[in-house]
Amino acid sequence: MKSTFFPGPSKVYPQVGRYMQDAFSQGILSLNHRSKEFMAICENTVRLMHEKLNIPSDYRIFFTSSSTECWEIHAQSLVAKQSHHLYNGAFGKKWFEYAKNLRPASTGVAFSYDSSVLSQLETLPKKAEWLCITQNETSNGTQVRPSDLQKIRKQFPHLLIAADATSSLGGIDVGIAHADFWHASVQKCLGLPAGLGIMICSPKAMEKAKQVNHTGVYNTLLNIAKNMEQFQTAYTPNVLGIYLLMRVLESLPTIAEVEAKLVKRRAAWHRFFAPFAQLKVLTPQESMASDTVICVQAEPSLVKEIIEKGKKEDILIGGGYGDLKPETFRIANFPAISEAEIIRLKRFLKKHVK
Ligand SMILES: *Cc1c(COP(=O)(O)O)cnc(C)c1O
Repeated sequence: MKSTFFPGPSKVYPQVGRYMQDAFSQGILSLNHRSKEFMAICENTVRLMHEKLNIPSDYRIFFTSSSTECWEIHAQSLVAKQSHHLYNGAFGKKWFEYAKNLRPASTGVAFSYDSSVLSQLETLPKKAEWLCITQNETSNGTQVRPSDLQKIRKQFPHLLIAADATSSLGGIDVGIAHADFWHASVQKCLGLPAGLGIMICSPKAMEKAKQVNHTGVYNTLLNIAKNMEQFQTAYTPNVLGIYLLMRVLESLPTIAEVEAKLVKRRAAWHRFFAPFAQLKVLTPQESMASDTVICVQAEPSLVKEIIEKGKKEDILIGGGYGDLKPETFRIANFPAISEAEIIRLKRFLKKHVK
């Protein structure tokens, strides 16, 4: 059996196989997206997301195709002129680039994976409508802790905050109430096949959407929200993806329980790497280390060797991403990964690395 530790697309929950079979035998794959049956699945999925992921009841939840699409919807439907981006890695940088293409007045500041986002707040321009933050930076294994988001919220009560939780939603309680716009994809921490994006909006974000009043393309936030009032989408959606999300959410414990397990595993990974002379967790600081993606630094030749040897033993280790590609590898700490698989990977690393 292959064990995958890729941080996306990542290991799906083992029960997904059974749910897919159910979807086929129950006719979900041919379900009309205007039917009562679909609307009930959609409504139930949204209800379960509120319940299982601790999403406040006054926040609205929408489906898109991907996180990348959410970046564009945010820029077009929620930014009139300027968003400000603070990023320390490749995904945050990409978001800023997408935003700049659509709203050229948008600004961004890059900071080091070794420093806190809190040290960058003075760069915020007066006119910025949004502060955009990558809550979990998949490329380098750092995160903005919910407590830090809360501090930003307190310091700038009138500022709208957008947070990318693509590789953390479903793994930890990201603190939805501390930001106004969240987005994620299901193929990472939610342990599902790719092809579905999730967008979460606060009442303040919905107010802003009315002011911006973006029209003229099919997936404006206002159009998405109007359709979602009836638990529908403007286009024919990924019905299977929504159904699988519903089934997986039903099977999951509360996010607090999932988080407790992942935090323990993350701490164990950090302890595991501490004695290695040739390997180092890129950002080991507790205040910034991601709970869901472990990024490990090593000599480029060793990184290559570890990934290749792993492949031969059916252990798929995530390569580095962006600028850090040659000198890092990444290990997903997602809830779908089993304890037995982690033991297997630890044994493999002990065998091959000093
Ligand atoms: C994977 C990822 C994305 C892009 O997600 P898609 O579903 O491929 O669009 C965006 N942001 C972060 C932080 C990611 O990890």
